[in-house]
Amino acid sequence: MTHYICTGGCGGVSEEIGTCQTETCDNWGEPLEECNCTDGTHQNKEGEEEGEEKEAKEE
Ligand SMILES: [Zn+2]
Ligand SMILES: [Zn+2]
Repeated sequence: MTHYICTGGCGGVSEEIGTCQTETCDNWGEPLEECNCTDGTHQNKEGEEEGEEKEAKEE
């Protein structure tokens, strides 16, 4: 699901759009960026890089 992350270094994550709330962060007060990652890495990578897992089940 969509969430919003701070890219300023504080590692802030919010389920709702907003701004960074960490005063010591480089992006304090800056808008959070939308992220749709599903693995918690917040990489927003385009395309899926799935490792190929071949299971040879030929009998
Ligand atoms: Zn921040
Ligand atoms: Zn994410």
